[in-house]
Amino acid sequence: MKDFKLICTACGKEYSIERVDPRCDDCNEPLEMELVKKGKIKQGNPLQHTILERYSDFFPFNEIRNDLSLNEGFTPLVSISRIAKRIGLKNLYFKNESQNPTWSFKDRGTLFGIQHAYSLGYKKVGAVSTGNMAVSVAAYGKRAGFDTFIFVGKNIPAEKLNPIAIYGAHLIRVDGDYGRLYYESLNIGRKQGIYFINSDVTYRVEGYKTAAFEMCEQLDFDVPDYVVVPTSAGGNVRGIYKGFLEFKEAGIIDRVPKIIVAQASGCSPIYNAFIEGKDKVERVENPDTIAHGIENPFPPSGNAVLKMLKENGGTCISVSDEEIIIAQKEMAEKGVFGQPESCVPLAAVKKLRQQGYLTENDRVACIVTGSGLKYTAAFEKHNLKSHTCKLEELNNFIKDNF
Ligand SMILES: [Zn+2]
Repeated sequence: MKDFKLICTACGKEYSIERVDPRCDDCNEPLEMELVKKGKIKQGNPLQHTILERYSDFFPFNEIRNDLSLNEGFTPLVSISRIAKRIGLKNLYFKNESQNPTWSFKDRGTLFGIQHAYSLGYKKVGAVSTGNMAVSVAAYGKRAGFDTFIFVGKNIPAEKLNPIAIYGAHLIRVDGDYGRLYYESLNIGRKQGIYFINSDVTYRVEGYKTAAFEMCEQLDFDVPDYVVVPTSAGGNVRGIYKGFLEFKEAGIIDRVPKIIVAQASGCSPIYNAFIEGKDKVERVENPDTIAHGIENPFPPSGNAVLKMLKENGGTCISVSDEEIIIAQKEMAEKGVFGQPESCVPLAAVKKLRQQGYLTENDRVACIVTGSGLKYTAAFEKHNLKSHTCKLEELNNFIKDNF
């Protein structure tokens, strides 16, 4: 490992780069790898690189094991000018993270967690999750040959359980308070030598920097004015922000976009604290939103995200389930079908444009975190139509009806 330090996001206490426990001993806030201030993008054909190789200057690993990778990242940045025009923006981009190996952004972070686990000699990894992260850690853990443990809530439905189970990890339905499971997993990890690559662990957040790096390259280093990130635990938005900061420090870009943290109004602890000017999140009771992937009532990186927003000057907003469903249809009709949480950014952008926060010359990038096929129950919310017609009448049917 290179000579970087881990630093507490709240009190600034420093730790060794080899530390696995992601939280500060003194204040229990998340640790972050120090800002990398020097580095270059690896020259050459990106089709022949993994994200770890291409941006290796910005990561602590001396040895990169490409056989742990499933060739994640390098996802498309799709410009949808018709939506931009309708809303009244100069440009609107969608970073389509559903094109990762397990169809969500989680694969970036999982890869980095797996690399760290490997570099420290671990043979066991795990995650507490019922959604995208569980699937991602199950896939990468098994591929790496690790004993892989996934803890889910006891009442998880079969349609969520089976896409995790197919990878063959040890899948354990835990009867008890799901909120406490995150902290309990850290204890179990210490006792049993299992590296838990949970939502906001240090190297998972490091992996998310690569989405920012890619956007810089895709836009020829002319970064957008705003980047909108659907936010739950807070790891993804912290990583994306840190990626832009590091490229700025390294002289690769000349400014950092403003970050917009987008939440669902049925579960918006960060937004609640932000509008009240608080620097600590409070637990949301009875969260309820269709955007299940961002339904975290007490986000472990919530306080770190509030601090980040203050430093960056961005904003936080929440949108209703109804607004999310409308945005999902709008995006799908332009070819990008995201799961409900992935459509929160577009709903947020529309709202912020109406409020005048965003203006017509702004260029905005939305992070589409995962595939719409991950949550097919959302189909019921749309009044989806098809037509039926006899073969011999098809020609006339088309002529008469469309
Ligand atoms: Zn601390």
